[in-house]
Amino acid sequence: MQTIKAWGAPAAGKPLEAMTIVRREPRPNDIVIDILFCGVCHSDIHQARDEWTGGVFPMVPGHEIVGRVTRVGSEVKKLAVGDLAGVGCMVDSCRACAPCGDGLEQFCEKGNAPTYNGTEMDRKTITYGGYAKEIVVDERYALRVPAGLEPAGVAPLLCAGVTTYSPLRQFGCKAGDRVGVVGLGGLGHMAVKLAASMGAHVTVLSTSEDKATDARRLGATDFAVTKDPATFKKLAGKLDLIIDSVSAPHDYNAYLGLLRPRGAMVLVGAPPGASALHPFSLIMGGRRLAGSLIGGIAETQEMLDHCAKHGIVSDIEIIPMQQINEAYERVLKSDVRYRFVIDMATVR
Ligand code: NAP
Ligand code: ZN
Ligand code: ZN
Repeated sequence: MQTIKAWGAPAAGKPLEAMTIVRREPRPNDIVIDILFCGVCHSDIHQARDEWTGGVFPMVPGHEIVGRVTRVGSEVKKLAVGDLAGVGCMVDSCRACAPCGDGLEQFCEKGNAPTYNGTEMDRKTITYGGYAKEIVVDERYALRVPAGLEPAGVAPLLCAGVTTYSPLRQFGCKAGDRVGVVGLGGLGHMAVKLAASMGAHVTVLSTSEDKATDARRLGATDFAVTKDPATFKKLAGKLDLIIDSVSAPHDYNAYLGLLRPRGAMVLVGAPPGASALHPFSLIMGGRRLAGSLIGGIAETQEMLDHCAKHGIVSDIEIIPMQQINEAYERVLKSDVRYRFVIDMATVR
């Protein structure tokens, strides 16, 4: 057992503070990662504030982890000491059920081991995330970080990247498709970059007028403000696929109206609480509404390799660990361009 410096929420909704956690001694299939950078996902905030309920406290958030491998177990093959490695939202799963066999470990029938706010598969050992100096993980749930990508900008790919890459792939995004991205935050800006890299015409639908220039720089062809009711008339029936990354409750029916017949809207944003859905929003036009949860391990590696090929990383603002509570407040105000990444060297 090793004692590791970390930052976390001592109880639901409390500000994050310095704390120590215990990591296991590496087993034969484990690697030890010296964490260099960890992205700040809106899910960290939902969970540290227990907005999804059932949170396990004290909680050390962080599932957008990039670092350097410092030790490897005797059976480790994929990674070596000195390599850059990543860890996303899962650190284990049962490895035996049908979803695990299909590379859908996020839907493991036994429930996977989340990187934090849950337990290892022994269902006893609490997991702690990437707002920490080190993590110990089975190499099977770690990712190879391709050379040539800026490590700090890679961190957000481990959640925001794969969460938007996966639905684009599932719904067959291809050159010429008209893709709408709702909400230009951490997930949204990755959705824009990734859809553009697949050749799609991207329309950003945002509440923030001042993000128009950024949207185009990120690869969007169009930008529309959703506070203006005219947007919903102008774009009615125009989009093939919508990726909805909004973190707060909003009216899904209005966005469904923007789809062409048989078009699909995929929810990745996870606001707490229920939302009213009118059957005719789907029936008219035979529209489809789906959800998507992160991505499997193989798909996450595929996304990283795609990003290396296209030179894609996240647009980030690096912060010291000590500014995490202010960063959370700024994320809640949509005041981040477009992902905070914690420089873990600031934890001493
Ligand atoms: P984020 O950086 O805060 O981005 C969310 C964006 O939503 C904001 O930038 C803002 O964009 C828009 N927004 C915020 N409040 C709004 C409101 N009241 N009405 C309309 N739009 C609003 O968050 P994120 O890290 O991208 O995460 C987004 C959501 O996805 C969170 O709920 C998170 O938990 C969830 N998530 C899901 C998965 C998954 O696997 N499905 C994975 C990771 C995260 P504009 O300024 O452009 O309007
Ligand atoms: Zn996340
Ligand atoms: Zn499983």
